[in-house]
Amino acid sequence: MSWEDNVRKVTPYTAGEQPKGRVIKLNTNENPYPPSPMVATRIYDLAQQELDGVTSMLRKYPDMDAVPLVDAIVRVYNEQYFPQGDGLTFDNVFAGVGSDDVLFTAFMTFFNSDKPIIFPDITYSFYDVWAQVHRFPYRMIPLKDDFSIDINDYLDTENGGIVIANPNAPTGEYLDPAELEKIVKANPDSVVIIDEAYIDFGGESCLPFIKKYDNVLIVQTFSKSRSLAGLRIGTAFGDEKLIRYLKDIKFSINSYTMNYPAIELATVAVLDTEYFNETVKRVIKTREWTKEKLKELGFIFGDSKTNFIFARHEKISGEEIFAKLRERQIYVRHWNKPRISEYLRISIGTDEDMKELIKALGEIVK
Ligand code: PMP
Repeated sequence: MSWEDNVRKVTPYTAGEQPKGRVIKLNTNENPYPPSPMVATRIYDLAQQELDGVTSMLRKYPDMDAVPLVDAIVRVYNEQYFPQGDGLTFDNVFAGVGSDDVLFTAFMTFFNSDKPIIFPDITYSFYDVWAQVHRFPYRMIPLKDDFSIDINDYLDTENGGIVIANPNAPTGEYLDPAELEKIVKANPDSVVIIDEAYIDFGGESCLPFIKKYDNVLIVQTFSKSRSLAGLRIGTAFGDEKLIRYLKDIKFSINSYTMNYPAIELATVAVLDTEYFNETVKRVIKTREWTKEKLKELGFIFGDSKTNFIFARHEKISGEEIFAKLRERQIYVRHWNKPRISEYLRISIGTDEDMKELIKALGEIVK
């Protein structure tokens, strides 16, 4: 017997590299544009106000409920998703330290069952890691050969919870909300988590479901469409009872997860809807340009509605292209895993980044 017998052992999630120096970084789905200029202005203002501003902010504990941020989210999301009224209230919203934190807490809260959690075999590779950390049984359901989800697999399968990324990652495949609604409806005794990390890049959110169903949690992030991966802000939306349960767990682990400056900065960012819309449009435009060029070079991929493209080449292996891009200081993501080892996940950078990428790929595949 050793203390090591009592260790909770797990193989951790492997994140994309964060290379130093001048590289073209298309490997972790960050937004290539800065966050709203209001964020920098707020940092500057706070730094100027010494005693009342930043120092007292750092001295005190932050607001446990992130009130200013949640209020701002309610306002902005109601304008976007519920313009006719009867939208979100404060009690429909949960905020955390990036959607990883939100999802982890949601797994712990809602998937506490002896039945397996179900999710696709190719999806965000944190889901199985979290299931292992919590020691929850799980079952990965194979995607179809074209990487689409067969929703019939989720309609009458016994489960202790369901998690689906929409659009899915790393495949980029998007499911229409009407399809996901069938899954939510067919599983009234499970919580269905819909991870919408990439929804702002062209998909339609399932957010309105929370007004109709008490078993669905919609999770979003400020890391992609709002260019704030470094700030760590994620959100969840659900029926009041669901959000209450989520908060009970959060407040039983660490009440003060988001720091005070992060709450302030995320608040000004979410209120700048004009900048948000403009940035998202720019990323989509560059994505569509990149798709055309990749097609010309012999790449094969589905119709991504995200800020990345999951593509393979008709002749050259994923591993080879990955290595040759890396030699040229261009970083994309490649997994040596069954079914997807021929693929590269290419995040959408600036127009200049993508021109460099296409130039390099042209040399590699010629
Ligand atoms: N869900 C999916 C599908 C993702 O790809 C990511 C980004 N790695 C996340 C959640 C987590 O993002 P964050 O914690 O930055 O909000």
